[in-house]
Amino acid sequence: MNLNLPGYRRLRHICLVKKSLFFFALFSYLLATSASASENGQDIKSTKHKKQLTIANSKAWKPFSYIDANGEPQGLLIDIWKEYARVNNVEVSFVLTDWNESLQAVKSKEADIHAGLLWSEHRETYLDFLPGIVEIDTQLFFSSKLWGTDVDSYLESGRVGVVSAGYEETYMMQHYPKVKLIAFGNNELMLKSAFSGEIHAFVADFQVANFYLYTSQRPNQFSPVKHLYSGLIRPALPEGHNQLRLELQNGFKRISAVDLERIQRKWIHVETVYPKYLLPMFIALILLLTAAYIFHLRRAVAQRTHDLNQLNIELQRLASIDAMTDIYNRRYFIELLQQACDDNQTGLFLLLFDIDRFKLINDNFGHSVGDFIICEMVKTIKRQLPPEAVFARIGGEEFCVLIQGLTAEQSQELAKRVQSSVTNSHYCHDNINHAISISLGAVYSEDVYIDHQFLINRADHLMYTAKSMGRDCYQFNKL
Ligand code: GH3
Ligand code: MG
Ligand code: MG
Repeated sequence: MNLNLPGYRRLRHICLVKKSLFFFALFSYLLATSASASENGQDIKSTKHKKQLTIANSKAWKPFSYIDANGEPQGLLIDIWKEYARVNNVEVSFVLTDWNESLQAVKSKEADIHAGLLWSEHRETYLDFLPGIVEIDTQLFFSSKLWGTDVDSYLESGRVGVVSAGYEETYMMQHYPKVKLIAFGNNELMLKSAFSGEIHAFVADFQVANFYLYTSQRPNQFSPVKHLYSGLIRPALPEGHNQLRLELQNGFKRISAVDLERIQRKWIHVETVYPKYLLPMFIALILLLTAAYIFHLRRAVAQRTHDLNQLNIELQRLASIDAMTDIYNRRYFIELLQQACDDNQTGLFLLLFDIDRFKLINDNFGHSVGDFIICEMVKTIKRQLPPEAVFARIGGEEFCVLIQGLTAEQSQELAKRVQSSVTNSHYCHDNINHAISISLGAVYSEDVYIDHQFLINRADHLMYTAKSMGRDCYQFNKL
């Protein structure tokens, strides 16, 4: 059973029980040794016919006294009285009814003894009380609907369930006269009403309420919110039965402290049991958190992978591009050319050209003008090339173009066009028009097996031939 109070509260309770047991045991031991042959005790034992005792209490006061599913009396007080019967060789029978009726039964002498109840001034007027057996704490319980409500203001005007004629009722009337008390025949009826939502607050003994709450489906629906009082449960009998009172007092001393503690432990020493839904809920939470974490992790990994891929693409681009002209660089161009040759492609067309007398530009106008002219010339040539052409800067002012899929005639035509496009362009910088030309070598190969280095050498050779022929021209060769 789960105690819905902090651990220290339960510990305190167990300590109190143990403390009272200790004094009880000590007291019984001293009396039993000094007056072991108590006449009353002798009377009980020597009686030929066992003495009969009828004991009254509530039928729904778990764990102290109740009627179980088989109609048998059960509970801590029942076990104590059974133990009393065993050690004193008497017979006990139980009258378990609603609380008020249990008091009436003793009052009307239908029962000899009340199994145990709290002392009150009113009860003292018609009952004689024996020493206490068990200490109980009585608390105000609130349903979850009232959580957050100020307890003291609620006790000024709210509705609170109590057991009719129970000490709780008397206590509440005395201490909280303004509260509206809803009386029930017994604790079971009160808890039923509380679970059905008819009342949202009730007063009950802590052990009793816990017994009912934690055998219910919704143990957390109610929680103790205020400790009202602690007291001892004491057996009582109608006033004036001095003989019986003495018998009972001595009879109780015969119950050993060990047995009493065993009985108490059986009913009061409760283990912490968590609500049934707590474990599945906890597991579900862990699964949910794990799933969320995995989801987050996967997303993070996917994002990182994407970023990395982008970075790789960018790196690859940077590694293959000439920064100044934004066309391919030599390394990448050679790689592509080699690849095309290795793939045994036919109809490869390679252009290689060099700017004529470029040194002069640098010398006369400076390197920055030279750079500008190189970039502008690249733009001019780009406009002449088909989209599939691979254009690269392979040296300072040397360039290559690779195209596949053209005929020899188309290739020669393109070589001519590229070469003349530069001649026909002017590049204006600082209001000065610069005219340049290129010398171009062009090789067209239909051979399946061609070496890329051979192809470059051939184009280079043709370019130098063009230079030697006076520049500003092209040389075409079909292999
Ligand atoms: P030709 O090719 O017609 O024989 O004469 P050239 O004056 O162009 O001679 P060469 O090709 O041998 O020299 C090229 C010059 O281009 C040398 C170098 O200073 C210059 N150059 C190379 N790369 C760059 C560059 O990126 N920017 C500039 N401004 N000049 C460059
Ligand atoms: Mg050169
Ligand atoms: Mg040159």
